[in-house]
Amino acid sequence: MIINKIGRVLLAGVFCVLIFAGPAWAEGMKTVRVLENIYTIVHGEGIDSNTTFIITEEGVVVIDTRVNTAEAEKVLEIIREHTDKPIICVINTHYHGDHTFGNQLFRDTHSIIAHENVRKALVGPAGQAHLEKVKSFGVSGLDAVKVVPPNVIYRDRMELFLGGYHLMLMHPAGGHTDGDTYVYLKELRLVIAGDLVFNKKIPYMGDAYLDEWIKALQFIEDIDNEIVVPGHGDVGGKPVIIAMKHYLMSLRSLVQDQLSSGKSLKETQDAVRPILEEKYKDWANLKWIDANIQRAYLEYSLKNKS
Ligand SMILES: [Zn+2]
Repeated sequence: MIINKIGRVLLAGVFCVLIFAGPAWAEGMKTVRVLENIYTIVHGEGIDSNTTFIITEEGVVVIDTRVNTAEAEKVLEIIREHTDKPIICVINTHYHGDHTFGNQLFRDTHSIIAHENVRKALVGPAGQAHLEKVKSFGVSGLDAVKVVPPNVIYRDRMELFLGGYHLMLMHPAGGHTDGDTYVYLKELRLVIAGDLVFNKKIPYMGDAYLDEWIKALQFIEDIDNEIVVPGHGDVGGKPVIIAMKHYLMSLRSLVQDQLSSGKSLKETQDAVRPILEEKYKDWANLKWIDANIQRAYLEYSLKNKS
């Protein structure tokens, strides 16, 4: 809790740069057929958060709703290119606006599902504050957004049996946020990971807890899966999970080395940044590395004191 509060203060200033600037801004949405009846819409004109939809016999399940109503409308158009079945529920993988601000387009489903901490982060004044914060970053199309929090929540695990599909919603630990969900379709060996996994992109870590995140990724790595849909970036396989975990482990150990030598935050950034920039030079969003070092420095400074 302490880490979270202090982290929010320290990182508030860089949030906009972190989330809302990146090379994917200019790319258009692309629909990828992941498996029969399962599609992921990757990239986008604004923010490159992924949306996945599953066409079941009973209707369509939508996972994450993008950053604004215009993008959510495009998602609806794309779904309608594939099916005229009703949309029966939405799942939010976490509270960040680039995954939830399109929820209002789907409120007729009466089933927007997420971890309980997502509702806490989006209901009432908290949700309005998040919207205002994202608006202040200059993201377009937010004037029409009404924050719609999930109305079906769970704590540790939830299972849905819909139209021939079995979806497990899992929250093995926090990590990217304190309300992360990954969706596991065991029979299809498919994981829809939300922002626990970024594919070849330095992750946003403004609400992150490294130890928890690494634990969650280890959990996902250990279950039987073959196809991984990240929160941002292209659909991949298990190596995408492992690469994300290794990034976080490298960040953790490099920062801890500096901390154990009594280095300041700036000294730590100056020492660690070039190592990570070189190691991850083919990833997007290298400019986020400094803030990630800051977040790790904060987490382990506080842990060392406690
Ligand atoms: Zn996120």
